[in-house]
Amino acid sequence: MTWYAPYPLALARGEGTRVQDVDGNWYEDMIANYGALAHGHNHPAIVAAVAAQVARGTAPGGPTPVQYEHAERLRSLNPSLERVRYCNSGTEATMWAVRAARAYTGRDLIVKIDGGYHGTHEWGQVSAFFSPSRTTPARLEGLSDPQLAPGVPPATAADVVVVPYNDAAVVATVLEQLGYQVAAVVVEPVLGVGGGIPSAPGYLAELRRLTSAADVLLILDECATLRLGPWQVKHGVTPDLTTHSKIIGGGLPLGVFGGREDIMSQFDPAGPRPTYHASAFGGNSLSLAAGSAALDHFGKDEIDHLDRLGERLRRGAEAAAAAVGVAARAVGEGGLSYVHFGSTPPRDVADTARLREGRRELRALLHLSLLHAGFLTAPHGLLCQHVLTEPEQVDAFVEAY
Ligand code: PLP
Repeated sequence: MTWYAPYPLALARGEGTRVQDVDGNWYEDMIANYGALAHGHNHPAIVAAVAAQVARGTAPGGPTPVQYEHAERLRSLNPSLERVRYCNSGTEATMWAVRAARAYTGRDLIVKIDGGYHGTHEWGQVSAFFSPSRTTPARLEGLSDPQLAPGVPPATAADVVVVPYNDAAVVATVLEQLGYQVAAVVVEPVLGVGGGIPSAPGYLAELRRLTSAADVLLILDECATLRLGPWQVKHGVTPDLTTHSKIIGGGLPLGVFGGREDIMSQFDPAGPRPTYHASAFGGNSLSLAAGSAALDHFGKDEIDHLDRLGERLRRGAEAAAAAVGVAARAVGEGGLSYVHFGSTPPRDVADTARLREGRRELRALLHLSLLHAGFLTAPHGLLCQHVLTEPEQVDAFVEAY
């Protein structure tokens, strides 16, 4: 994902909205660590919070007030988090959310989206977006075969049902036939790595209805989408469990999973049959202090600002491509954009793959040209801004584009 030919830049430092490579060149950062940052580099409030916390210790190894303070801030963005537990990354958060769902329901199967990216643990690498080394047969006729990353055993895929994005009818069929074996449906509100594709209107509400009817849990993987603001409130979808990571740590590693109290209370060590959760550095004070400072600077103004920047960028990129006779569709939501070269926007990862394959050379040349013009972008088409980015910086980027 982060590699590109002839070799990726080695980055020495970041400052505000810019990064500098080890040769001393500065670039306007249009990736924001693939969406993981929202506040630019070295945001003064985050630097101050980290400095204050490091003097008080980094990971004391027990519950801390900074955890509660961070959790309260998270809840104001996502009220479905009745209880949370902290870990170190998005990979861990989704691993734990699925563990919670399996332990709570006593079932093993999960339903995962084709091209859905949830991190690098075993089930997350089933039909994630990469060149597959092998496949295993689909569990139901009509579904595409699960694709396995090298090193992932086929047995992993036996517990994963892969369905296309934005197609609730397929999920209905799967739950009808296999629902009694399914612990959870795991889905991103915007298919991020798979092409920045927003969920179709009503799609997640329908998944909520179907999962509730089948007594199956719904897990929203919001590791990437918290930079869009309170997505669940805005779209009126309440999952059973949610995962967050990336911007919640203010640039330090942090993940969280949480949701319904009755599900999360299974982790209570004093409970009748506790589900095990441990992590030496999960919920460490440094990440949480940085994250709280970041969330304190992530209110309505900042979210609206990112929304406007995203709109400006998407419109600008499409217009710039059209001006030289190239069809482009810029998709995404808020401060998370993805440019595809083609005349129809993708609906699922199969469309993304087709569009990407068609313009490989154009993408590579555009990426390198932008580097020469002083803009760091992701070669595959993802574009994310910082809350410190000004509209004029977006305009300068579009000009270069
Ligand atoms: N889930 C989603 C939706 C993501 O976008 C990512 C990272 O890109 C992850 C999970 C994994 O997060 P991490 O890289 O922190 O393990």
